[in-house]
Amino acid sequence: MSISAYDPNNIFAKILKGDIPSVKLYEDADTLAFMDVMPQAPGHLLVIPKQGSRNLLDADPAVLVKLMPVVQKLARAAKEAFDADGVFVAQFNEPAAGQTVFHLHFHVIPRHDGLPLKPHSGGMEDIEVLKANAEKIKAVL
Ligand code: 5GP
Repeated sequence: MSISAYDPNNIFAKILKGDIPSVKLYEDADTLAFMDVMPQAPGHLLVIPKQGSRNLLDADPAVLVKLMPVVQKLARAAKEAFDADGVFVAQFNEPAAGQTVFHLHFHVIPRHDGLPLKPHSGGMEDIEVLKANAEKIKAVL
């Protein structure tokens, strides 16, 4: 199996360095969670490890051990904050699978019965809407 190299100049690495702004939800020594700028539903957020890996395929299992409890914590919070019926957790590996940003990330998206998701990487959301949705999630964290 060949694995492509990690590019330390990817957009999420820039968010981690503070070179690009993001609407943050949660941060600890190993993990950052922030709002997706092109949400597929209100409350769509991303959870990333601070240690760089391209995706799940090259990630250090020790990083995953620290990451997954945060994914769970944010999934629970997003579901409650949006009074959702369910919560979708997704993670794509390589372009053929839909990956567009090459720093490991988990999507967390509240889902409501009968409401379809907007397209992946669709339109940019208004920053004030993202901030308001982030406040709802942080209120239950
Ligand atoms: P992927 O297809 O790689 O799993 O999804 C990348 C996600 O990152 C998409 O849902 C896209 O909307 C989101 N995204 C792309 N650029 C940015 C950005 O600069 N900031 C934030 N917060 N999200 C981004």
